[in-house]
Amino acid sequence: MRTPDFEQLEKELIYKRKNGYRTMSESRIKTAFEFCEEYKSFLDASKTEREAVKTAVAMAEKEGFEKWDLQKSYKAGDKLYFVNRNKAIILVKIGSDKLENGINMSIAHIDSPRLDLKPNPLYEAESMAYLDTHYYGGIKKYQWVTLPLALHGTVVKVSGESVEVSVGEDPTDPIFYITDLLPHLGGEQMKKTLGEGIPGESLNVLIGSMPVEDEKISNGVKLRTMQLLNEKYGITDSDFMSAELTFVPAGKARDVGFDRSLIAAYGHDDRVCAYPSLKALFDCGDVSRTALVCLTDKEEIGSVGNTGLDSNYLFDFIEDLALSMGANPRTVFRNSKCLSADVNAAYDPAFPEVYEKNNSSYINCGLVVTKYTGARGKSGSSDATAEFMGEIRRAFDESDVLWQMGELGKVDIGGGGTVAKYVAKFNVDVVDVGVPVLSMHAPIEAVSKLDVYSTYEGILTFFEKLK
Ligand code: MN
Ligand code: MN
Repeated sequence: MRTPDFEQLEKELIYKRKNGYRTMSESRIKTAFEFCEEYKSFLDASKTEREAVKTAVAMAEKEGFEKWDLQKSYKAGDKLYFVNRNKAIILVKIGSDKLENGINMSIAHIDSPRLDLKPNPLYEAESMAYLDTHYYGGIKKYQWVTLPLALHGTVVKVSGESVEVSVGEDPTDPIFYITDLLPHLGGEQMKKTLGEGIPGESLNVLIGSMPVEDEKISNGVKLRTMQLLNEKYGITDSDFMSAELTFVPAGKARDVGFDRSLIAAYGHDDRVCAYPSLKALFDCGDVSRTALVCLTDKEEIGSVGNTGLDSNYLFDFIEDLALSMGANPRTVFRNSKCLSADVNAAYDPAFPEVYEKNNSSYINCGLVVTKYTGARGKSGSSDATAEFMGEIRRAFDESDVLWQMGELGKVDIGGGGTVAKYVAKFNVDVVDVGVPVLSMHAPIEAVSKLDVYSTYEGILTFFEKLK
C-alpha cells in the first residue's frame, strides 16, 4: 500500500480559515481599497439614521430608483424605494421571476450607539452651559468622556417647520466635550469598576461659558447659548421637546496602520453592512429573483418602535407590493431568503479570554457568517437551518467570496441579537452575515478593508446567484 500524500489529504479533509492577503489577487485587493474610499465618504455623510437615509436616497435616485407608489404595478427591471419616517428605507429591484418565487433581501441597520439629548437638556452650572443626554444603545460610558463630539439631528418647531442641525464636523466648526476627573483627584473614582466610574447621569456635554452682558440675568450663559441657537436655527428652549438631537464622535473615518489596511470610524456597526448592501443592490444585473435592501432603525435598542424591524413596516410593504403584483404575500414570504447583515466581534488578541479561537471571526478573513446569535443557550436567536447554510456556502464558494464562520465570543460570556428573528417570524429563511469589528460599540470602531469588500461581494452573490 502506498503512503497517502498527507498534505493533499489535509487540504481535502481539514478546514482552514483563509486570510485574504494570502488568497486574493493584487488587483482584487486594490479594488477593495478603492471600494472603501467610497465607504468612508458614506460614513462621513451618514452619522445618524436620518442622514444615512438621505445619503441612500441620493445614491438610489442616481441609480434610477423611484419613489414607491402603491397605486402603480411594477414589472421586471423596475427599481423603487420607500422611506419610513425619514429613519428607515426599503429599496427594491424587481426580478424577472414571479414574485411568489420569493425575494432575496439584505437587511442592515443604520442606527448606532450615541448620546441623545434629553427633552429638557439645556442648563447652566457654575457659569458653564451644558446639554444633558440619555445614552442610546449599549455603550461603555467611560469611553465617551474627553472626546471631540459633534451635534447632529432634527428640531421640529412648534410651527411644524423642521430644522437640520450638524455642528462639529467641519474643521472650522467648534466641537463639544464631556469632562472627566483629573488623575490627581481621581483616587476614589479609580477604585470604582469601569461600569461605575462614569455614571450615565454625568454624561453632560459642555457647550459654552460666555454669559450675556446683563448681570441681573441669573443664568446668563444658558441665555447666551439659547440666543446663539435662536440666531442660527430660529429655535427656543422648548423646541428641544420636539427634537431628535444626538452627540456623536466628531470627525471623519480614517485609515489605520502604515499599510492603511483598516478603517477607524464612528458607526461601522452597522453602516459597514448598510453600504455594501446598497452597492450590491445597485451593481447586481438583471436579477431573476427580486432583490430588496432594507436599512432599518432602532436595532441597537431592540428593534422597537415603528422604524425598527419589530414593527411591520417592512412586511406590510412586501405584502402591499405582492398584492399589487397579483402575488400571494404569504407565498412570497415562505419562499424568500434574507441576509441579516450585521457586524460580529472580531477576535481581539488583547482580550483572548472572551473568545473561543476556533469559532471566532478574524480580521482580513472576510465576510463572517453567523449561524446563530443569542445568549445563554442561543436564547433570542434565529438559528439558520443547515439547508440554508448549505445554499449560502455553495454560492459564496462558487463566486470565490472570502468568508468565514464566527460566533460572538465564548459560550455564556455574553452574547447579542440581531434583526434576524424578526424576519424569521414571517417564515423567511434568514442567516446573519457581516463584517468582523474591533472595539464594537466604542466611539471609534475598526474594521478591515478586505472584510468590507468581501461583504459587498457576498451580498452581490446572494442577489445574483441564490435561487
Ligand atoms: Mn449591529
Ligand atoms: Mn450594535
